[in-house]
Formats: sequence, C-alpha cells, structure tokens
Amino acid sequence: MITTLQSAELFPQSDKQPPRQPLKGLLPSELADFFVGIGEPKYRAKQVFTRLYAHQTHSFDDMTELPVALRKHLAATAAMNPLTLSRLQESADGTKKFLFRLADGKEIETVLIPSESVEDDGAPKRLTICVSTQVGCALNCKFCATASLKMKRNLTAGEIVDQFLQAQQHSDKPITNLVFMGMGEPMLNYDNVMKAVEIFTHEDVQLLGARRITISTAGMVEGIRRMADEGRSIKLALSLHATTDGLRTKLMPINKKHNLRELGDALEYYYRKTGSPVTYEYILFEGVNDSSEDVRRLQRITRRVPSKINVIPFHPIDFTHPDGVSATLRPTSTAKFHAFIQQLRDADVTVMIRSSSGKDIHAACGQLALSQVAAVAGIHAAD
Ligand code: SF4
Repeated sequence: MITTLQSAELFPQSDKQPPRQPLKGLLPSELADFFVGIGEPKYRAKQVFTRLYAHQTHSFDDMTELPVALRKHLAATAAMNPLTLSRLQESADGTKKFLFRLADGKEIETVLIPSESVEDDGAPKRLTICVSTQVGCALNCKFCATASLKMKRNLTAGEIVDQFLQAQQHSDKPITNLVFMGMGEPMLNYDNVMKAVEIFTHEDVQLLGARRITISTAGMVEGIRRMADEGRSIKLALSLHATTDGLRTKLMPINKKHNLRELGDALEYYYRKTGSPVTYEYILFEGVNDSSEDVRRLQRITRRVPSKINVIPFHPIDFTHPDGVSATLRPTSTAKFHAFIQQLRDADVTVMIRSSSGKDIHAACGQLALSQVAAVAGIHAAD
C-alpha cells in the first residue's frame, strides 16, 4: 500500500529539537494557518508564498519584508529546502539531470530538457522539466529502470515543487513546460501532485500555465476519471507501449488490472468531460511492438478520442542487470523507427518523435538514482 509520509516523519523529532515545519508545498491557506498559529498576521502567508515561488527565494535571510525576529524564528523552526542537490550531470545535448537527496536520505532524479527547436538567438524554444512523484515505483514496467528500485514512498508536494525551483537555479532560461514523467506513477500520489499543480499555476506566482503541465500515467483508470470529474485543465498522457492486452500485460503488469478497453473507456470519459485531447506515449522495441499490425491497431486505438502519439526510442537499461522480459528488449533500428512513423502518418495518425535527449547520461526515468543505489550496494553500474 502506498502512503504519504507526514512532515513529522520526514523531519524526525529528537529529544532536543522539535520537527521543523516545511514551508514549501503549503498552499496560501495552509501558510496562513501556520502564521496565525505562531502569533503572526495572516498576510505573512502571501508575503512568504510570493517570496518562495514568484521570487524563488531559497533563504529566510532574503525575506527582507519580514521582521528580523520572525526571520530568525523561521530559520530556527521551519524548513526551507526539502531537497539537497547531490549530483548534477549535463549531456552533450544540453539536457541536465539532477540527483536530489531528501530529508530522510532517500534519492530522486529530475531532468531538464531543452527543445531541439531554437529561437533566432539560438536559445531553445522550450525548456521542459521532468519531475519525479515517488521514490521508486510499484508498477514494475519491464522497460523502466525505476522499477528495479521498488516503491519506497510518495513525495510530498514540497518535494515535488522544489525539484522545479532548484532546477531553475541551474538554468539561465525560464522553465516553460513540466511533465510528471520522472520516477513513480503520479496518479498513485494524486493529492500531492495536484497540490503541486495548484502551486505552480497559482495566480500570485504563475510559474507555469496549466496547459504547460502534463501528467503521464501508466494507466490508472481511477486517476484519469478523477481528473475528468475535477475538470483539471492540465494535459493528460498515457504510456501505451503495446497494442494488444497480451503484450501490454507482459510489458506493463498494471494492464492486468486495467486493460486496453477499460483505458479507452476512461480516456473517452475524460475527453467528453474536459474536451482535451490525449497524448499516447509509445516506446518502440525491436520485433516486439513495431509491426504493420501494430500500426493498424494503433490507428484503431487512437481514433477513439482526438489524440497524438509520441513515438519514443528505447534507452536500454542494461546497467540495471535486467532479467526476464526486461533483458530481451532492444531499441528498434533507426530505419525501422522512421518507417513505423511514416506508416502511422500514412494512416492519418498524428505523430511526434520524442528525441533521445540526454542518452549519454541515462536521462530516462530512475536511471541516475539507480546508478547511485547500485554503487552503494557495491554493484558495478555500467555507464
Ligand atoms: S514507467 Fe513509470 S509507472 Fe512504469 S515502473 Fe517506471 S516509473 Fe513506474
């Protein structure tokens, strides 16, 4: 069962010091409760909320509009940054991968990806951050390095938001887009993910517009329907990766619980409620899901609601020492990859090619954290 740790668990109590209250991740109403609770006026909440997100302040000392005594009190009793940067890697293509340490010593990764298309001055048109939502993952998709970490815990809203804030510090360009596609299944940490979305899109800070945020799910039908019922205006992507239930269950065991028909029904429900198109993610594996029959079935699957398909090259995960199905997966050859895309286009399917950004630094979900775990365990992690 997946549970959310409370702040007291993240900042364990010792005999000498009470737990520090993490401020990042609190909504304005929760911040107001906090300040009223320590005898301060409510308007402190707006001051601090704006400082944390609009000004992206990382120290209480810099909150100069607060009285000195309050800044000192906050420095002694509240926590500013839930994440500590452990390692930053930069790919030849400009992709950056961050390894963050959490307050309880666990680790997560975050990736910052510049678009290939550029402005007149050579700057990337988009800068997309791929954030994690859980430490590890319980869903055990066979192509994913994070799966071998197993599920540890959900991230708090503050830990999700801080990935954005800290990554932004390492880029001259503002982050323009966000995808919940790092470690973990975001729909299994729904409340904290949506709380983070409320902060990113809050009118007082406007870090991102809702249509610049995408939640990607392996197929959690309950979450898709809940997003529809709540009228969420962020975008939805489904990791599809197979066109038959037999293959999808082999690659993604969650398909046993929610098969393709059920997923299709949920996406149709989502589209009817929100009017928003859907994106399908489709990793190509040599000889597994790249046939002409797959093209025909994809055409059928994707025409149920307005949609597009992101076709993605597979990043091998050999360094995780995979076994079973995982050990047999290989990337489709470049020629076949492009032929597959052409067949989809000929069948009037809208296709985007997701590039292999950050391939040289294993910038796919979970890989950096896993390398660290393997190193700690004394296992040789191939590079
Ligand atoms: S692909 Fe996503 S849902 Fe599947 S195991 Fe990896 S992190 Fe979990």
